[in-house]
This record gives sequence, C-alpha cells and structure tokens, in this order.
Amino acid sequence: MSGMPTLRSRKLEISYNIPISKTLKFWEGLKEGKIYATRCRRCSRLYFPPLADCGECLESDMEWVELSGEGELITFTHIIVRPASFQNEPPYTVAIAKLKEGVKALAWLTDVKKKDIKIGMKVKLVPKIIDDRLTYEFKPL
Ligand SMILES: [Zn+2]
Repeated sequence: MSGMPTLRSRKLEISYNIPISKTLKFWEGLKEGKIYATRCRRCSRLYFPPLADCGECLESDMEWVELSGEGELITFTHIIVRPASFQNEPPYTVAIAKLKEGVKALAWLTDVKKKDIKIGMKVKLVPKIIDDRLTYEFKPL
C-alpha cells in the first residue's frame, strides 16, 4: 500500500434509473431487515428482485411476499479483476442461490473463507447498508 498513487479520490458515479415508486416497499423492507419479492396474483409466479409487471402473463397485479432469505448455493465465482466502480473493494465472491421459495438470487457471498465455500451449502440472503446504500448479500447459515 505504499509508493503507488491511490485511486481513492477517483469517484465513479453510476446511476440506475429505477422507478422507485413501484419498488419502494422492497427498499423499505431492506431497512427493516426484510427481503421482499413480488408475486403475480394471477399466475402466482414469484419475482426476485421484485418486478412490477409479470413477464409470464403480462399482468400488473402483484403482491409483496416476504422471503425467508434461506437457500442453497448453486454457483459462485471469485471476482479478482473488479469493474471500475468496485476498484476500491478487495476481491469478492458473487454467488447465486436458490431460495426456499423457489426463486434464484444473485448477491455477494461474505463472511466465509474461500476454501469453505461449497455448492449446496446453506446460505441466507440478508439486507446490508454500505455507505447509506441499501443492498443485500449472502452469508453462510
Ligand atoms: Zn402472472
């Protein structure tokens, strides 16, 4: 960490244009420690991350469903070469797990040593606040 100039002052802003009104409950849920999905009232299809419109039957009649967050690891990858917006982060692990409720979720997997990560291991999706930004990540169960 010495000698080389750091890139810390180089801040890269990325904005995601998501209509917040339709997903507000999801963000509010994260603040309360809850993970919400949406379920189509017509065909019962579950969506995570939540969607306001059903891609299956094109209906827009969705209800909010709280997920247990519990699931099984399907796959993972260690990210060594990070995208520009994550240059200041140490290498991290991204994982996909199938949740009990049947939906798949993609998130960082933290609090577990690389060598202990196994396909099929039980994980839990938990809300996280990083620098006032709400997100979620997997932790081993
Ligand atoms: Zn539907």
